[in-house]
Amino acid sequence: MTRLSVEQEELTQLVRSWVDQEVLPVASAFDHRDEFPEELVEAMKEMGLFGITIPEEYGGLGLDLLTYALVIKELARGWISLAGVINTHFMAAWMIMTYGSEEQKLHYLPRMVTGEMRSAYSMTEPQAGSDVQAITTRARREGDEFVIDGSKMWVTNGLRADMIMILTVTDPTAEPRHRGMTAFILEKEAGVSHQPGLIVPPQLKKMGYKGVESTELIFEGFRTPASSVLGGEVNIGAGFKQFMAAVELGRVNVGARAVGLATCALEQAVKYANERETFGKKISKHQAIQLKIAQMGTKIKASELLVFDAAEKKAEGGRVDLEAGMAKYFATETALEVATESMRIHGGYGYSQEFMVERLYRDAMLLILGEGTNEIQQLLIARRLLE
Ligand SMILES: Cc1cc2nc3c(=O)[nH]c(=O)nc-3n(C[C@H](O)[C@H](O)[C@H](O)COP(=O)(O)OP(=O)(O)OC[C@H]3O[C@@H](n4cnc5c(N)ncnc54)[C@H](O)[C@@H]3O)c2cc1C
Repeated sequence: MTRLSVEQEELTQLVRSWVDQEVLPVASAFDHRDEFPEELVEAMKEMGLFGITIPEEYGGLGLDLLTYALVIKELARGWISLAGVINTHFMAAWMIMTYGSEEQKLHYLPRMVTGEMRSAYSMTEPQAGSDVQAITTRARREGDEFVIDGSKMWVTNGLRADMIMILTVTDPTAEPRHRGMTAFILEKEAGVSHQPGLIVPPQLKKMGYKGVESTELIFEGFRTPASSVLGGEVNIGAGFKQFMAAVELGRVNVGARAVGLATCALEQAVKYANERETFGKKISKHQAIQLKIAQMGTKIKASELLVFDAAEKKAEGGRVDLEAGMAKYFATETALEVATESMRIHGGYGYSQEFMVERLYRDAMLLILGEGTNEIQQLLIARRLLE
């Protein structure tokens, strides 16, 4: 990994200190109440985190993807749900920066920078997760508008977002199917469950990743102007490729979240091992515990190198499905393993809500599923290696 710049060091340090002081003391309580952390999100807006990678000409910090990954790691060390609040927003902003028309950039990016406008990213449907080409949500042209019908599933930030980057089918007869798919930038009312053409049912009840809502979205005749096709109408049929490129970023993000979560699990394990005594000594003096700590630390370091390498390569442009897939796969499996080992080191107390490791254990499970399951990552990695 290249040496960090002063700016990268300073921003990382700022977020780390904020997480130590403001997030770690309250994250588990928010998680147990499944409460949206309004004040923490406001503080993230003030730190400029909603516009880290958006160019300065639109008011953002204009920083690179590595800096983004560093910040996500620090946020996730406190609570992965905070990283979840900005990730779909960041992916949508990246899609507008990369594929949007100049008019769309001017319209959306300055308001996304401040967090005044927040975005969701939606491709999954009730019957189509890993198999994205099986989506059926339909966008039909009617005059100067498209009319959207269908259901989306697991939309993170689905209720509070003002805007949804959505993948739809515009031509169901296209072969291969992905050529008939189009991305739209849909504007909606934030925080409203019923609006013309769109119902947002109550948020899904989850095992972890609490606080940030994941919802279904039901479209019934939702109208959007033809100008809301991402990048303009020349991009009708290009949506699948645009979404797949953004998913690579999502994988870097999930990998960075995994490194942050695992770092926290290791810190909690070390703290506990230096306090708890059995058989007349601190448990950190038992070699069986030391072996666990050594393995946890080494695998976290390896994860960090894979994730930051993928972030740097993606920033250089081009395809990074192999690097992002490896980073996501290894870092998230490591996070689950480290959270489990940290639970074991905590003994019976790890099972109690008094210690934060139970939250880390529940949250780690999401990471192996989201942004493409780890089975799918392995298929992608193998396909590239076999080529
Ligand atoms: C909390 C949460 C938040 C999410 N947020 C978003 C979001 O904001 N936007 C969004 O679009 N999506 C989101 N998702 C969806 C997520 O990306 C999907 O759940 C994930 O891709 C898996 O899809 P699925 O659940 O339909 O599983 P399926 O695709 O049905 O897979 C079921 C099982 O079969 C395995 N499998 C499937 N195909 C193969 C194969 N070819 N070979 C081997 N094994 C296979 C899978 O690995 C898995 O183990 C979110 C999910 C969760 C849980």
